[in-house]
Amino acid sequence: MITGKNYIGNTLSELGSTSFKTFNSELNKENNHIFKEASKEEIKQAILLATEAFKTYRNTSSKEKSAFLNSIAEEILALGDDLIQTAMEESGLPEGRLIGERGRTIGQLKMFANLLEEGSWVEAIIDTALPERTPAPRPDLRKMLVPIGPVVVFGASNFPFAFSTAGGDTASALASGCPVIVKSHPMHAGTGELMASAIIKAAHKTGMPNGVFSNLNSKGIEVGRQLVQDPLIKSVAFTGSFQGGKALFDLANSRQDPIPVFAEMGSINPVIVLPKILVDKKEELAEQLVNSITLGSGQFCTNPGLIIGLKSEDFDQFVQQLGKKVEGKTPAIMLHPHIVNNFDDKSQNILKEDHVVTVGKYNNMVNPNTGKQVIAKVSGKYFLENINLHQEVFGPFSLVVECENKEELAHVVNQLEGQLTGTIMGKEEELLDYKEIIDNLVEKVGRILYNGVPTGVEVCHAMHHGGPYPSTTDARFTSVGTSAIKRFVRPVCFQNWPQALLPEPLKNKNITHNIRLVNGRYTTEDIIIKT
Ligand code: NAP
Repeated sequence: MITGKNYIGNTLSELGSTSFKTFNSELNKENNHIFKEASKEEIKQAILLATEAFKTYRNTSSKEKSAFLNSIAEEILALGDDLIQTAMEESGLPEGRLIGERGRTIGQLKMFANLLEEGSWVEAIIDTALPERTPAPRPDLRKMLVPIGPVVVFGASNFPFAFSTAGGDTASALASGCPVIVKSHPMHAGTGELMASAIIKAAHKTGMPNGVFSNLNSKGIEVGRQLVQDPLIKSVAFTGSFQGGKALFDLANSRQDPIPVFAEMGSINPVIVLPKILVDKKEELAEQLVNSITLGSGQFCTNPGLIIGLKSEDFDQFVQQLGKKVEGKTPAIMLHPHIVNNFDDKSQNILKEDHVVTVGKYNNMVNPNTGKQVIAKVSGKYFLENINLHQEVFGPFSLVVECENKEELAHVVNQLEGQLTGTIMGKEEELLDYKEIIDNLVEKVGRILYNGVPTGVEVCHAMHHGGPYPSTTDARFTSVGTSAIKRFVRPVCFQNWPQALLPEPLKNKNITHNIRLVNGRYTTEDIIIKT
């Protein structure tokens, strides 16, 4: 049941005076529930509870944390159709997509639970003592990753389940041993509260400390600002706009003790289409790209927003196909009127820029909150001259850049900012001719694809969903896949520490059979110390 209240640890609370409602994009009207924004006192209380909870949660065994994550997954499923219906009302996303996203959310919770059971993620490294070494003996040194402390998670508007309250950020932070405070996204506050209730239930069932999780409502930036500025908060995870992510990054860095902000922000995900593949595959590629551009009304951070190719008759025909296909697609409802307005403004502004022409545009009358897809085109020369054309248009939009020759293509790639993904579409035999350009593209991205589309981010161990600035604030980390846990930990080295007091993964007896680097060799064996 949705109450509109905040979860301050296990307690529902509504001390604030500011209230707001969510919006139904499909019906173009506000939803009924009233949500109370968290007050300053409630925010502080959630932080104090998280800090207290950390004292026990950081020492909670992997097995217990794994049971907690599996229990969250079960409780989410137990929310049943209420969850799906609420998310549909608050996001305009269709039922099928939300059922799929729920599966992904449950799947990633279980994946982190398995990671904890396996245990090697703590990266245990052990160099045993060398008492006889000359001129100086070596002490016994044992290092592993430990949780960093309370984490603030900003729910994303475009993934109400998988990147929000119980999404990948929360799952990875809880797996690492950090309590989580979610700053719920105002567009889907009811969905957020239902998800929060599942986490709280799971925490009760598995005996987790009060404060291991809190969920705060807010519509406006103040709640987030107070959380990020509080000295007891140790890390921040964010998915959203460049402006929002950068503001939070700057705020965290202006603290007396700066903390990491892992912000996943905008990306235009360049796709380079090489000449030979166009000879016989132009229609197929155009279909693939238009499907990707319009998928979920383009509301994905991996949306292919830039298609780059070399001027030729084949390229011309390929662009015509893109135009034809994009006009033939039925457009979909977007998440919220703000997002639609943002999309309309940005796509129209690009079309108004000098030398930009329309390739294809959906022009029929539709529901007011529908994202009418657009593909535009510009030459490489004018793309290089006009930085306004490099910005993300969040929604079903893509810009084709037609380069005069290979040199211009190289310039275009060199001028790109950091991106989440880059894609090469080409025949294998032509790749070597573009090796330097491809190498330079790899420098700019976190994931490089060959003959595929960037939308559809697999949740797995090898995934990297991150990239050089400004696509994220730290290219070394991912927000998708099990490596996401590495954002919320730090290494600690125990020197000459008594066996009995060492954390389990560093003891001589390797009871969990983790892979450990012992004296420079990866092994699962116990350590036998010769006396
Ligand atoms: P957003 O405006 O970046 O907001 C995301 C979250 O951060 C919200 O909870 C917001 O709080 C908070 N926030 C934003 N600026 C803040 C600040 N200066 N200080 C503290 N908190 C701040 O993103 P959005 O609401 O999801 O969508 C707006 C636009 O972001 C979209 O039109 C799109 O352009 C872009 N976007 C991009 C991606 C991507 O993956 N690249 C994903 C989603 C959105 P309040 O809402 O409560 O103010």
